[in-house]
Amino acid sequence: MSKTLCEWKKKEIESKLTQLTDIVSPSHYLCKKCARTANDKKYLCKGIKLK
Ligand SMILES: [Zn+2]
Repeated sequence: MSKTLCEWKKKEIESKLTQLTDIVSPSHYLCKKCARTANDKKYLCKGIKLK
């Protein structure tokens, strides 16, 4: 999976909800461009570590 979470379309979010849950929880990173969160920086385009 090379696509970042930021690139997911609404349709993909709905169809891959289980996978999405694994990516966003627990959320350690925040994308400062798209305001999305993930447990790994690789899922975000401009990921920054949450404190
Ligand atoms: Zn992003």
